[in-house]
Amino acid sequence: MNILLIGAGGREHALAWKLAQSRAITTDGGKLFATPGNPGIAQHAECFETDLSDHELVLAFCEQEHIGLVVIGPEAPLVDGLADSLRTEGFAVFGPSAAAAQLEGSKGFTKDLCARANIPTAGYVRTTSLEQAKAALAGFSAPYVLKADGLAAGKGVVIAETLADAESALADMFDGAFGDAGAEVVIEEFMEGEEASFFAITDGATIIPFGTAQDHKRVGDGDTGPNTGGMGAYSPAPIITPEIRAEVLSRILVPTVQQMAADGHPYSGVLYAGLMLTDEGPKLVEYNCRFGDPECQVLMMRLEEDLADYLLACATGALATMERPKLSHDTALTVVMAAQGYPGTPQKGGAIALNDAEADGAVVFHAGTVIDEEDGTLRANGGRVLNVTARGATVAEAQARAYAAVDRISFPTGFCRRDIGNKEIAREKA
Ligand code: ATP
Repeated sequence: MNILLIGAGGREHALAWKLAQSRAITTDGGKLFATPGNPGIAQHAECFETDLSDHELVLAFCEQEHIGLVVIGPEAPLVDGLADSLRTEGFAVFGPSAAAAQLEGSKGFTKDLCARANIPTAGYVRTTSLEQAKAALAGFSAPYVLKADGLAAGKGVVIAETLADAESALADMFDGAFGDAGAEVVIEEFMEGEEASFFAITDGATIIPFGTAQDHKRVGDGDTGPNTGGMGAYSPAPIITPEIRAEVLSRILVPTVQQMAADGHPYSGVLYAGLMLTDEGPKLVEYNCRFGDPECQVLMMRLEEDLADYLLACATGALATMERPKLSHDTALTVVMAAQGYPGTPQKGGAIALNDAEADGAVVFHAGTVIDEEDGTLRANGGRVLNVTARGATVAEAQARAYAAVDRISFPTGFCRRDIGNKEIAREKA
């Protein structure tokens, strides 16, 4: 079976790495393609450029190459309906329809769904004008949680400590700070607790848990500085105990999948629940309709199954025939190496030498890298550049291995956090 993977980040390199180990590719003569890909993905797949917004072009490629499975990594093409266009023509696609991808694409949509299905989450109000939003603030207390409704690359959430700050942030949002994504703003109750991520795949009827993780959103050590797409992660997240896991499934995921089906847009693909573990139990912060980046990297390192089998079963509505996937019992931990300037404007073009970073079993997933056409040097080409990932019997061991690999890499214009996993290591020691 030939497979087409869509995306260019560290998440897609991890998916390509795992898909390349699938029987479809290793023994059954299938070929793995990726668009646009990156130099890491190119180690496993034939990469090509196309215009993803031109669905006819993607369809023509799938027909020409007899693609048996399309795996869509990032959220933007999903929200843009690429899965719908491909499915209409009979292709098996791993990823939700545009209507179902509203679970990530519209925070107001998801909050309304939670309200209808009685799913635990923060109380909220949807607002479409500054006046309405300012009036709604009276129903909340500090800190105020303000969210642009649409996709804003993880930057559309403001947590304001005072009423004045909240009013000024709302003014910016309605003034277009987040473009169209801010035409509607959701105001939420602030939830206290620790955050963790829960992954599942579903074909709209059967839900299969796919692991847990915790990420590190802030750019600086000790959770300081601005938010990023994620500076590191580890899996599993021991804070999600078997009891919490059962509760997340029965009170959050199952009602979501049932409500989506009842509303006429069944959800198929990854259901990635961002959770707040509160004193009142787990509550939903948000849904994402794709694997997290860099959480996907640690999940793929632990997956002891044929990934293509699971993604194909999900895409074809056959998940009921699959067992719960085996994930290794150890920990996987990934450290993001970013280019200086990130999450602001990153310095592009810095030279990278990976050296023997993978010598002791670590895997270096590429995100924003490029190969210099003139001298063949690997160079930084984005904000987050490498995901250095290792496994260990404990979080401490996985962390030590990941940083040992980081230290073998030469990337003078790069930086990373040095404390990925520290909170969990402190709990391990306690
Ligand atoms: P992401 O980059 O995770 O996709 P996003 O822009 O989709 O982010 P959310 O995940 O909804 O937005 O919120 C971003 C962060 O803001 C959360 O990870 C959490 O730390 C914080 N947050 C969001 N909602 C709440 C809430 N109701 N109470 C407390 N903190 C919250």
